[in-house]
Amino acid sequence: MTYQAASDRYNDMVYKRCGNSGLLLPFVSLGLWHNFGDIAPFDVAKDMIFRAFDLGITHFDLANNYGPPPGTAESNFGKILHQHMAQYRDEMVISSKAGYLMWDGPYGEWGSRKYLISSLDQSLKRMQLDYVDIFYSHRPDPHTPLEETMGALDSIVRSGKALYVGISNYNAAQTRRALEILDDLGTPCLIHQPRYNMFDRWTEQDGLHDVLEDKGVGCIPFSPLAQGLLTNKYLSGIPADSRAADKNNQFLSENDVSAENIKKVQRLNQIAEARGQTMAQLAICWLHRKPSVASVIIGASKVSQIEDIVAAQSNLSLTEDEIKEIDAILD
Ligand code: NDP
Repeated sequence: MTYQAASDRYNDMVYKRCGNSGLLLPFVSLGLWHNFGDIAPFDVAKDMIFRAFDLGITHFDLANNYGPPPGTAESNFGKILHQHMAQYRDEMVISSKAGYLMWDGPYGEWGSRKYLISSLDQSLKRMQLDYVDIFYSHRPDPHTPLEETMGALDSIVRSGKALYVGISNYNAAQTRRALEILDDLGTPCLIHQPRYNMFDRWTEQDGLHDVLEDKGVGCIPFSPLAQGLLTNKYLSGIPADSRAADKNNQFLSENDVSAENIKKVQRLNQIAEARGQTMAQLAICWLHRKPSVASVIIGASKVSQIEDIVAAQSNLSLTEDEIKEIDAILD
């Protein structure tokens, strides 16, 4: 059956400018790290992408290694796009990245020109695309000159394989230097993708937001819900269908669902309830208090989770008192 996008998809979504660029991003974007690879149910993945787009989520975030197995999130996304959504390509912002281990040998990870360019070629094939909207260096490489990594991003834009470039997991000092090199090359950095959530505030301590605001670069935090911890899903135990209970998943374990974390989430949840929101919605609003944050990239295993987050759009801003109360709980 042919997918027809909802005609009211742009009515309610909040779009924010990404740094000083011309690009607007939805306040929430969908990431395909988990639940879109070959071991996930394909129909659920497809429904989540359709529903996200129907709700005004125009940005889909991928990387070469998403799956599992690596590469299959991109090939499944490509299949869905090609078979059902090809006519909407110009309404979408699709990103991919390279940096983590993707294939054997010395050219299958990190930040060399050799790796970044061949990895993007593979990603484009898997997604059946001519170009991605944003291509990222997924992590800084301590052994490759930053000039080479940034030079590869510049070449990628000039070759037409990406419209914009970004960096991910770079600290403030590395970011400042990377932005200078990209500016000199004439391909300004659009966006930075760091891990940032209520439980992980390294970007604040490191001064990353100051660099991004100063240079007019957008910030798009990943794992905004701390992989599900910052929701009400673990408040009364570990559900069998959760990421923490999934023995195949090495990124969130039952130990992460600690009594200390849950106690904090219980208190945060009271603030959310007083605002008439869910805990997940509050966690997203909290990130948007930072002026550099253009969007946040959520993950999801069910359509209802995406619907829940999108509903935060009616009440995105926090009061000074709420921010102070949240800080006191997190301290
Ligand atoms: P989140 O912190 O948003 O965690 C997603 C998980 O939270 C879901 O799988 C689900 O858990 C749970 N969840 C989501 N919404 C709700 C809700 N409304 N109510 C209750 N539970 C909810 O993000 P991820 O860690 O998944 O990362 C998001 C994206 O960020 C990735 O897909 C990827 O695109 C990007 N990323 C980038 C990285 C980088 O290095 N640049 C690294 C990691 C991620 P459950 O599955 O248990 O239902």
